[in-house]
Amino acid sequence: MPAAERAPAGDWSRALSEALRARADGQLARTRLIVEGPQGPRLRIGGRDLLSFCSNDYLGLANHPRVREALARAAADFGVGAGASHLVTGHTRWHEELEIALARFVGRERALLFSTGYMANIGTVSALLSRGDEVFADRLVHASLLDGARLSGARLRRYAHADPERLDDLLSRDPGASRRLVLTDGVFSMDGDLAPLPELAAVCARRGAWLMVDDAHGLGVLGDRGGGCVAQFGLGTAEVPILVGTLGKAFGTFGAFVAGDAPLVETLIQRARSYIYTTALPASVAAATLAALALVEAESWRREQLRNLVARFRRGAHALGLRLPPHENPIQPLVLGSAPAALAASRSLLDRGIHVAAIRPPTVPEGTARLRFSFSAAHGEEDIDRLLEALAACRADEPVLFSGDR
Ligand code: PMP
Repeated sequence: MPAAERAPAGDWSRALSEALRARADGQLARTRLIVEGPQGPRLRIGGRDLLSFCSNDYLGLANHPRVREALARAAADFGVGAGASHLVTGHTRWHEELEIALARFVGRERALLFSTGYMANIGTVSALLSRGDEVFADRLVHASLLDGARLSGARLRRYAHADPERLDDLLSRDPGASRRLVLTDGVFSMDGDLAPLPELAAVCARRGAWLMVDDAHGLGVLGDRGGGCVAQFGLGTAEVPILVGTLGKAFGTFGAFVAGDAPLVETLIQRARSYIYTTALPASVAAATLAALALVEAESWRREQLRNLVARFRRGAHALGLRLPPHENPIQPLVLGSAPAALAASRSLLDRGIHVAAIRPPTVPEGTARLRFSFSAAHGEEDIDRLLEALAACRADEPVLFSGDR
């Protein structure tokens, strides 16, 4: 472009401001809260103590003394920064030990640590596929899986949410691509429902596709010992060859892993760019995660407590006439429709000391803005009752918000 036609820098800034204003006008602007203190059911925000129902700390481990101590002890021994990528000098004994423990935990041959779930997903999909391949994603998969699909250059096709027949239909057409990968969340992040994994796995086996399951929200929560949705369904590497778990949710720490057979993990070490070209996560975080894993496995009462709290919430919400989806997972969405309705409901709860984030497009499809309640084993029954009372009061004040048709 000739220099004379280029927009001056001031115009850029004006254009960005206008786009931001349009977003704000549609009540779609995102803001950040400043939290003072550790994660937990009660958060100190803006000088107020709020009861919170929107963290993914499902088992209440993010501030557990044993996890904190493990982190502090390893930091005393190993310092803070990993200093380099895993392939240079960043891979410590703690990382190695955690990978072995995670592989055993999910019953896979090997596991590979990534710094975040986002990076695990974009790195894995783009390492396995390239132009000429095909990738099939559930309509509601997490953004990071889609970004991985786009980055890979493979042809992306979406199938109707949790619909193995629709997937089968897509896979039955023209199996020209050399590699075909199917992507799904295990527990869907904004709806909390479970993917029909046995049926999806059967379709993949029949049509010669690989199945990649992102179990960010099932790991630690589902299965007798927290092995997640694959444990709950009893699915091994043959059915789900690529399993992703994240560590910033039920494990209460940070990071993620991909588990599968040795050739998969070795391929990712060689090819996943978000693994290769980034600093390893701190060794102390790996040490803390090992401590969290021991708690995840041993303390089944946390899963039990979580189930009881969700059941209590659902009973109360049902009595209030609020429409929730049929599942009992700890992500419970209350779909309100428009972004302004979801924001107003969130603000109304905030006025009553309850923090529940409004989830709006593009995170969820247009017209399905919602309150997404998530629960933690660290909540008590009295917390659930307070939430239900607040919801009842908000609805009494603004019934139209909760009618679900705005
Ligand atoms: N997958 C799913 C389904 C998620 O919900 C998230 C986080 N919201 C991620 C991946 C990304 O994980 P991380 O936060 O570790 O990047």
